Amino acid sequence: MKIKIIKCLQDNYSYLIIDEASMNACVVDPSEAKPIVDFVESNKINLKYILNTHHHFDHVGGNMELKEKYHAEVIGFRGDKNRIPEIDTLVDDQKIWKKDNFEAKIFHIPGHTNGHIAFHFFKEKKIFTGDTLFSLGCGRIFEGTYEQMFNSLKKIKALPKDTEIYCGHEYTLQNSNFCLTYDSDNLQLKNKITKIKEKLKNGLPTVPTVLSEEMLCNIFLKAEDIQTFSKLRDLKDNF
Ligand code: ZN
Ligand code: FE
Repeated sequence: MKIKIIKCLQDNYSYLIIDEASMNACVVDPSEAKPIVDFVESNKINLKYILNTHHHFDHVGGNMELKEKYHAEVIGFRGDKNRIPEIDTLVDDQKIWKKDNFEAKIFHIPGHTNGHIAFHFFKEKKIFTGDTLFSLGCGRIFEGTYEQMFNSLKKIKALPKDTEIYCGHEYTLQNSNFCLTYDSDNLQLKNKITKIKEKLKNGLPTVPTVLSEEMLCNIFLKAEDIQTFSKLRDLKDNF
């Protein structure tokens, strides 16, 4: 299973999960169709599944066009069946979604939106976290509560520490400034920031990141209680 990172819109990432034996693929959160189509066409990929983490336009904007062009199946959370465009298959918390050689466990992780989910490809140790967990940050709380977001992050923290995290946006550098402001003695954070800047300087994405590193460096994952977490989330909203 190979992951191709595709930059979309301003700072979004969509991901192609490619089974190289069959060239079948899933796309996670296609913000727009064009960059996905370009890659799929030039690499002779069979785009079969569209996986959506949540209903926001910058995560589903390509659904309609991709479904029409490739007859791909759209997979999303049952609770969002009325607001994910072209949804076909409804998935539920803690259930396994399995098609062809693709197999992911669904985690309902509300907070950013009520119906936000993550797709955990547990055999490959990769999780697609949309706008819930970013590298060195977490999503804004639009529909849920602080408590929901805190608990959603807790579910991700419980995964194996070598899990790779693929998030919805390239926000890492901005996020790192916030972490550094409130966690200025963190040596691991400083080392990570050096690596981040190096990648960005070379035009490379800072994703995927690894759970073990995030647990040491991401101030939102380091927060041990809801009070601390909520305070940090408020500070970040006004940062
Ligand atoms: Zn969003
Ligand atoms: Fe987004």
